[in-house]
This record gives sequence, C-alpha cells and structure tokens, in this order.
Amino acid sequence: MGELLTDGILFVDKLLLSRGFDDYKWIRPGNMPVSYWVRMKCMYGCPDYGRNASCPPNAPTIGECKALLAEYEKAVFIHLFYDSGPKLMKDWVMRKQKELLDIEKNIFMHNMEKAFLLSFDNCNLCDKCTGSVDTCRFPYMRRPTMEAFGIDVFSLAKMLGYHISVKKDFKESTNRYALILVN
Ligand code: SF4
Repeated sequence: MGELLTDGILFVDKLLLSRGFDDYKWIRPGNMPVSYWVRMKCMYGCPDYGRNASCPPNAPTIGECKALLAEYEKAVFIHLFYDSGPKLMKDWVMRKQKELLDIEKNIFMHNMEKAFLLSFDNCNLCDKCTGSVDTCRFPYMRRPTMEAFGIDVFSLAKMLGYHISVKKDFKESTNRYALILVN
C-alpha cells in the first residue's frame, strides 16, 4: 500500500470517528456484489423511480456502475442505526446525509479527489424532490444510493458481518448503510 493511501486511510479513520461514525469497515469496491436484480427492484416497486432526481433512471447503467467501482481501491462501508420512529425519520435522514456529504467534502479536500458518497437513502435534501436532474435544487449535493448503483446491500452487509433484514413495519428500528468511495 502506498504512503499516500496509508495517510488517506488514517485521515478518513480520524475524520469518521471525530464525527461520531464509529461503526464502519474498509472494503475493496471492486469486490462488492453488483446485480441487475437490484435495478429491477428500483424499476418495479419503488415509488421514487423516476420521481427522485438521485434515483434511476437518473443513474448510470449497471455495467457503468461496475466499471466505476472497479476504479477504486478503497471505500468505507458505514453502518447507521435509527430507532426513533417514523415521525422523526425524514429529519434524521436529512441530517445524516448532510453529515456524510461534509465528510465526503473533507476527504476530497485532503487531496483524495475521487471521493464520492453513495448514500443510505435517496436524496432527502428538499421537502419534495423536483424529480428532475435539470431542476434539482442542490445538484452539487445530489448523490445516488448504493442500490441505485446496483449494489446488493443485503448480501454485502451480511458478508461483512452486519445485521440487515426486511422491515415489516415503519415503526421498526432500522440498520442503514452508506458507502464512501475514497481512492
Ligand atoms: S437536492 Fe432536492 S431536488 Fe435535488 S435530488 Fe435532492 S431532493 Fe431532489
């Protein structure tokens, strides 16, 4: 591992811990499971398909996603946990998205210019998404989810020893996962 990469990893470790993100794992992005069925779930069944500017069809093809992920050597897979009920969920998602975007920005500013966040939820920065890339209110903050990139988050979380399950009720606590592609 190069000196620059080691320095970068130490920087990201310190940054994440200082922001309270203390449950994460370093992974090699090219080894992540990426599948067409994940995109199919976006297309058939998700109410945000075509209605949120961060979601498919406003996303690269699965082949392009695979190629992009293979360009990175290091990424951090971050576990988030929410247990405060459905009413406060949107505020929590918005707050965590902003915190993760700021972490991405700090990594970028530390000379890791490839830094890119794949969020744990579709973009929630506006009360109501415009649904269009052309009219997005904060295009520099719009990020796709891991699922929008075809990443099989269920398999990946399990491979890494994390808990994940299908929610049967919005009142249930939830484990969420984000990814920051680092270098
Ligand atoms: S910034 Fe607003 S308009 Fe743009 S993708 Fe996010 S929610 Fe939609």
